[in-house]
Amino acid sequence: MQPFRHLYVHLPFCRHKCGYCDFNAYAGMDRLIPEYVDALENELVFARERHSFQQLETVYLGGGTPSLLPPAEISRLLRFIRQTFNVSPDAEVTLEANPGSTDEPKLAAWLEGGVNRLSLGVQGFDPRALAVLERRTDAAQATRAFAMARAMGVSNLSIDLIYAVPHQTPQTWVDTLRQAIQLQPDHVSTYCLSFEEGTLLYRRRAEGRVPEVEPDLQWDQLDAACVELEAAGYRRYEVSNWSRPGLESRHNQAYWRCRPVYGAGAGAHSYATDGEHAWRWWNVARPRDYIAAAPSVRADGEELDARKRVAETLMLGLRTADGMAAPAGFDAELRRLQRAGLIRRIDGRIAPTRRGMDLHNQIALAVL
Ligand code: SF4
Repeated sequence: MQPFRHLYVHLPFCRHKCGYCDFNAYAGMDRLIPEYVDALENELVFARERHSFQQLETVYLGGGTPSLLPPAEISRLLRFIRQTFNVSPDAEVTLEANPGSTDEPKLAAWLEGGVNRLSLGVQGFDPRALAVLERRTDAAQATRAFAMARAMGVSNLSIDLIYAVPHQTPQTWVDTLRQAIQLQPDHVSTYCLSFEEGTLLYRRRAEGRVPEVEPDLQWDQLDAACVELEAAGYRRYEVSNWSRPGLESRHNQAYWRCRPVYGAGAGAHSYATDGEHAWRWWNVARPRDYIAAAPSVRADGEELDARKRVAETLMLGLRTADGMAAPAGFDAELRRLQRAGLIRRIDGRIAPTRRGMDLHNQIALAVL
């Protein structure tokens, strides 16, 4: 089995559940945080005893809202990770933060604990779109959190934005992009809003209380993101991600390149491979159940046979602008994708075209 060099840690606590969110995230459970960190520590020790880990190249604390953890708890967790694993001196250590729960004492604890990349869940600057998303943070908070993080020394800052939001107009989206660019982030992720079953937003749309977004508007907004971000010096290196040169997310590259990633925490997924077959497994999802189950927290899993493993590698590799070496056994699918103008061949590699990036779901359908 190939050793793990990438660690994901899930922190499922949120102050409030946003209307569009179908992540494994819970509001009103903050009092479980100390026990949850204990359970995480137990899982990590258990994992290190059972799996092979090499020097970690990336650590990613995602959620949920990792920035909700009090400084003492996040410091304890970061310290524990460094004591338990060999974290490379130049590892990328990312923490997802909500602007509303980012303050100086927490930033000091993150930096002290070795966090060197912050992913700020801004989502937008336009109050109407933020209201539809039920975000409780506003443009002023986002701007303040960003400036504070920079001033305190976070050198690598990423911003998340959402488009195709009901009531978001072409102009408010362009204004959002420009406000984001003005902050000079190192990395920008733009996500198309999806209405996931079981969310409040899904129910509201079904009841006719939220208007549909015209598909044309969605494409225009994606196009505007390409124009604005590329003009400002960002490269679209993945379907939904732009960065300044050299500041692509190293952790996410591990997912797109199908490298082994160990996922710790409630509902976290792990991926392991021996280079031929692959295995995926996931932990029990609810924080209380996770705490009760620790350290043996695995809920279920599956094995991917050799063909499925390569198909996933192809599907994910074709999310990235650089593409990948063409794998054997998919000639017919690749020819069809090339004829449809979704991929191109360059120096023996295959890479998505702009159309292939915009319509990546068609690539996924063709190869999986
Ligand atoms: S803050 Fe993020 S994880 Fe938490 S509910 Fe909102 S969208 Fe979901």
